[in-house]
Amino acid sequence: MEVKKINRNRVFRYINSRPRCSTSEIAKTLGLSMPTVLNIRKELLESGLLEEVGEYESTGGRKAMAISSVKERYLALGIDITADHVSCVLTDLAGEVRRHERIPLRFYEDQEYFKTIGKKVEECIRNNGIDEDRFAGIGISVPGIVDETRRMILYSHALNLRDLSFEALTADIPHDCMFINDANAAALSEVYNSVCREALVYLSLSDTVGGAIINPRNTDPFSTIGNIIQEGTNHRAGEFGHMTLEPEGAQCYCGKYGCVDVFCNAKNLSGLTDGNLPAFFEQLEFGDRECETVWERYMDHLARVVNSLRMAFDCPVIVGGYVGGFIEPYMERLREKAAMLNTFEPDGSYVLSCRYKIEASALGAALKIIDSQISKI
Ligand SMILES: [Zn+2]
Repeated sequence: MEVKKINRNRVFRYINSRPRCSTSEIAKTLGLSMPTVLNIRKELLESGLLEEVGEYESTGGRKAMAISSVKERYLALGIDITADHVSCVLTDLAGEVRRHERIPLRFYEDQEYFKTIGKKVEECIRNNGIDEDRFAGIGISVPGIVDETRRMILYSHALNLRDLSFEALTADIPHDCMFINDANAAALSEVYNSVCREALVYLSLSDTVGGAIINPRNTDPFSTIGNIIQEGTNHRAGEFGHMTLEPEGAQCYCGKYGCVDVFCNAKNLSGLTDGNLPAFFEQLEFGDRECETVWERYMDHLARVVNSLRMAFDCPVIVGGYVGGFIEPYMERLREKAAMLNTFEPDGSYVLSCRYKIEASALGAALKIIDSQISKI
């Protein structure tokens, strides 16, 4: 029974990770027999999770039917809570962003705030005509330390709170909710439906610096992503922002001196353009001297961080967060700088820019829900 369930789940995840595929392709890739795959396909078609989407060209004999998952069979909402706004993303089984919205809303630890979020959720569900049996739930990403076992946000500097229970936050939201740290969520959006399942480190460069460590115990790409984040003893693994980069450096918001955050937060850049990060990169592209100087210095610090992460984890390092959304044209330069510091490697090809440039945390939170829903298939 257990094996049957695992096989069905793997088959569905395989189909869901592709635009279309054939039964023989599934059997071959997953190492299953044709009768097993045909049985599972029948069950999944009957439950409305799959659909037939045309035929493949015949290679002699009967034409193979192309199948695909019904992407809108399940939808989930991701909400990214920040100090001054809330981002909402609606996603489906494919992990596509179907809708996204950013609402200015200052965080207050009171019932009114959560009632407002509850109303927004209902509005989104209604406006998009989502019926109850298709709605999988809500993933909520927060800039803080999350303890899922105790169901609490232990600490958030950005939101100025300690020991807040999930229940207190979601009393006015009549749906299943899951919480996740914002950088962990962004890292999940990078691995969802990806063809290979390997360890990686995600460095989030937003108004504060955070990160996540993906350490899959199961390397099968068609298995759950529910437990691939390394949490650490105190749920603080990946807090790269508070590694000391220069002990003589300026004071960090955490109270210590010379943390990575001081040098690598996005405000170092957007501070030159009235808090507008896209404007900074526009000016940089136009050859603004001041922006160039600041950017060069920023990249020097970033290269040190990236190199340290490579030394510690020996895996790909993804540069994400607000800055990660703009870094693509400068990746070669960053790789050169990182390679100069590297003891073992002549190039910096292990540094990658993030796949999702906007609202990656909200999307990742929603994908946590989608993944959990798929696990029940
Ligand atoms: Zn710090």
